[in-house]
Amino acid sequence: MNDKDHGTDYARPMKWDDSFRFRCYPGVDCFTACCRDVTIFLNPLDVSAMRKALGITSTEFLERYTARIVNKATGVPAVVLKMREDDEKKCPFVTDKGCTIYESRPYSCRLYPLDTEQGVEYRFLVSQQQCHGIGEPQEWTVEGWRAGQGLLQYDEPDFHVKDVMSPEQFWEAPIQDPRMQDMILMALYDPDRFREFIFKSSFLSKLRVDGDIIEKIREDDTALLYFGAQWLRFALFGKRGILKFDREYLEQKKKEVFQGRRDPR
Ligand code: SF4
Ligand code: SF4
Repeated sequence: MNDKDHGTDYARPMKWDDSFRFRCYPGVDCFTACCRDVTIFLNPLDVSAMRKALGITSTEFLERYTARIVNKATGVPAVVLKMREDDEKKCPFVTDKGCTIYESRPYSCRLYPLDTEQGVEYRFLVSQQQCHGIGEPQEWTVEGWRAGQGLLQYDEPDFHVKDVMSPEQFWEAPIQDPRMQDMILMALYDPDRFREFIFKSSFLSKLRVDGDIIEKIREDDTALLYFGAQWLRFALFGKRGILKFDREYLEQKKKEVFQGRRDPR
């Protein structure tokens, strides 16, 4: 299908080969208008890229620039970008010249003016009244837009995390305990804190983890994200994948429990 009126119908479903005309650039009269008062959910890879662009840790990034939202039905936490706390509620990274972290901008900002359900169904999100970049001569298909905006890099990690931690598990057993919600946040969104937890606590003496994986997760945030999803599945739902308790650790624990029973204090 070719787009005839180019974005005047709000939230129009789009197939992958549907086209739209759009260009956002400093010459458009609404430039940066959409970077304010907006709810931007961050993907784990967004946090990793944005904190690198800013030269701070993921823990610091989450504290300074984000807020936590918990899904009431599943108890699963998500992370949103915090807008400035003034009347304009602008994104902390916007200036008159545009986005100061453009190369590391989040998934949602890359996708705009499209939106998606689980990366499968796409919709055209805005009208030409709101966004004057719609109707500019440059023409895109949904597929071409995804490639041009660097969205393909998210496909594999998203697929992997959803595969390991299928959302149905949370519908069946919603997460109520704030400590577990914090575990999810750490394992998926806070690679620096998760790394510290893995390498500076007794974590690796309790679990048997392949040496190759240990080396990979030291530096590679995407590998750490995969590992985090596996760990959550193991810790929250007791499902083994690449993780198992260390046999010596289990034997030692059994001895301690046995001793405790024989020698109550
Ligand atoms: S409203 Fe549209 S054209 Fe204007 S700045 Fe936002 S994306 Fe660009
Ligand atoms: S991160 Fe950049 S593109 Fe996204 S809302 Fe903020 S300034 Fe705009």
